[in-house]
Order: sequence, then structure tokens, then C-alpha cells
Amino acid sequence: MAGVPATLSAPAAQIGGFLSKKPYAPPSWATHLSPMPSHTMSLGHFPTPIHKWNLPNLPEGTEVWIKRDDLSGMQLSGNKVRKLEFLMADALAQGADCVITVGGIQSNHCRATAVAAKYLNLDCYLILRTSKLLVDKDPGLIGNLLVERLVGAHIDLVSKEEYGKIGSVAKGLGYAMNTAEELKFVKDIAAATGIVLDPVYSGKAAYGLLKDMACNPAKWKGRKILFVHTGGLLGLYDKADQLSSLAGSWRRMDLEDSVPRKDGTGKMF
Ligand SMILES: *Cc1c(COP(=O)(O)O)cnc(C)c1O
Repeated sequence: MAGVPATLSAPAAQIGGFLSKKPYAPPSWATHLSPMPSHTMSLGHFPTPIHKWNLPNLPEGTEVWIKRDDLSGMQLSGNKVRKLEFLMADALAQGADCVITVGGIQSNHCRATAVAAKYLNLDCYLILRTSKLLVDKDPGLIGNLLVERLVGAHIDLVSKEEYGKIGSVAKGLGYAMNTAEELKFVKDIAAATGIVLDPVYSGKAAYGLLKDMACNPAKWKGRKILFVHTGGLLGLYDKADQLSSLAGSWRRMDLEDSVPRKDGTGKMF
């Protein structure tokens, strides 16, 4: 291919242990578990940072700290990379040539699996649940789907009804659905603290936490809380329509009118 360095088609480079196989030793509290994995594949960037989270309207003396598992990577961001370090090591040890998994249409798990599989030169097959209406349509390039399709995962769509017949009992009615109030909360927290929560997990969890703090301040007063941000930011793209009326203002910059000339006469060009 013209203009593309030859090294780009080689398997991902191994720098500083990333994407390499590591021996695994369990923490002391888990040594009794069996079977115990012997190795992991290094896929995430750990440890993730912990810092104070200056949320608005906390009860007096309450401190909230945040564990940033959303920073465990970019394509592989979030808590899912932690289990994939074990699962992918197991797949490789078994000599697998592909991995198959199932999730919702905006599954963070499926996106992380697709990326990890490609890093490790495994084929990835994703079965994604969507609505009956959308099951025959191109699923689009929104959020997690963009990454999955860019890395070449094979995608099969199945309706929730069909899946329900043979699969799990319905991963709750409200799963991946948001009220306008929850999305406004995600937007307000981003504007107040710079932390962008996800719509399915951390957004709802923080919403519930602050609501309970507001209703029962005595219960939380003086307590020190560690909130785990499990990632999932890409799922927010799926809510872009619902968010568009909330998220920030913008304007067209009019250079001719707004940039004064040095000589003070107004026109720049
Ligand atoms: C899957 C997921 C969770 C839930 O993680 P569990 O390990 O299944 O409890 C939380 N947050 C995000 C962003 C996720 O993708």
C-alpha cells in the first residue's frame, strides 16, 4: 500500500509489557479460589488514578473521591478490560482462533472484546441485541459500534424478543434507558467537575448517590466515599439526540466584525 509503513500491518508492538503475557498471583484474600488463573494478558493501563471529586452540594464534611477506571485505556477503556486480561489469556492458552460474545447494541463489553481480540490477532464475533425495528438495518457507526466496526469485528444483530426466547431473562426494564433528568445530571456534573459519566452505569449511580445525599444528609455527613468510575463514555454518543438540547451553546465567530485591527479601524482583512 502506497504511503503506509510496512510495520503497520505487523501485530501490535510490545512496549513496556503492554499486550504481553504476565504471570498472575492472586491477592491474599483470593488465594483459596479455584481454578486460579496462572496468567493474564496485559491490556489495561493500571493502576488507574484516584483523586478528590469536588461535587456540588455535598453534605457538610462529606468527601467524595473518584477511582478513574474510565482512564484504563482509550479503545479498551473502563472496567471491562480488567476481566478481559484473564479471559483473553485463557483464550490464547486454549489455542482459540476467535472469540464470540453477546451484548446490547451499545455494549462496552463487546467493544472492549473486539479491540482486545484484534490486538491479539483473534477473530471476533459479536451478537448484538437491538429492537425488532432495527434488526434488519445497518446498525450505524454510533459510539461503541464505530470502534467495533473499525477494528473489523463480525456483527450479527438479534432482536431482544428473539434473544429472550433462548437467552437470558431480560442485563432489567430500564437497562440502557435514561430519563431526561439523568441526562441533565450527567451534563451538569461534567460542567461542574469536568468528569464525564456514562449514561448506563456511573451516571445513574452518581445520580442515585447525590439524590440520597440530598434526602438523607445526616446519613452521609462526615463520610469519605470512593466512587468507582467504570468508564463507558462511548455509550453517551447513543444519547446525542437526547443531550443536544442540554449541551453547551455555540456561535459562529465573525472575524470581520470581532477582531479589531491594530490601528483601531476594525477590519482585519
Ligand atoms: C459492564 C459495566 C459495568 C458493570 O460491571 P460489572 O463488572 O458487570 O458489575 C459498569 N460500568 C460500565 C461502564 C460497564 O460497561
